[in-house]
Amino acid sequence: MAVARRKQLPVISDRPLAKAGLKSERVLWPTKGPGAFEREVENVEDALLLTTVEKAIAWAQTGSMWPDTFGLACCAIEMMSIVSSRYDIARFGMERFSSSPRQADLLIISGRVSHKMAGPTRQVYDQMLEPKWVIAMGACASSAGMFNNYAVLQGVDKIMPVDIYVPGCPPRPEALMEGIVRLHEKIKAGVPPAYAMREVAG
Ligand code: SF4
Repeated sequence: MAVARRKQLPVISDRPLAKAGLKSERVLWPTKGPGAFEREVENVEDALLLTTVEKAIAWAQTGSMWPDTFGLACCAIEMMSIVSSRYDIARFGMERFSSSPRQADLLIISGRVSHKMAGPTRQVYDQMLEPKWVIAMGACASSAGMFNNYAVLQGVDKIMPVDIYVPGCPPRPEALMEGIVRLHEKIKAGVPPAYAMREVAG
């Protein structure tokens, strides 16, 4: 019966775990054969994935960001279509629009904000737990667009910090998707939410 030959491990100085600071008996005795622990972990070295807690949290946040169910005007129709099969926001784990602000991470301001709606809009924002993000979708949410009058708030950033502005009247769903992807990139790059940056700036 053939006896399986024990795999020859490279010398200790070439072992990745040794380079990472692992101290075993072979460090003290390089000519000694591999120990039981080293035989167990020799394949693990090829399968290990190292990251930081911050990167892992950012990855989880961008992979399950739930938008709040909130629409104000014509832009909301474009926003609703991002859950359709054509745009498929489920690719990012975002198809679940939450009816409760307490279970939402993202507020998409889709439409003009009248002064009458400014209070309820801010209340929805306040009820969201941190961390939370805001996208101003369209010209009206960003700057009131064509509604330069006394009845409409001249940009939603008058009442809450905004992370991403999406231009257009209305922006196509592709533009909103672009804004969402840009927001994900900001989070993965370690950029804090807009409210946190506003607090730092005073
Ligand atoms: S930006 Fe255009 S489409 Fe969007 S709410 Fe204003 S008027 Fe309507």
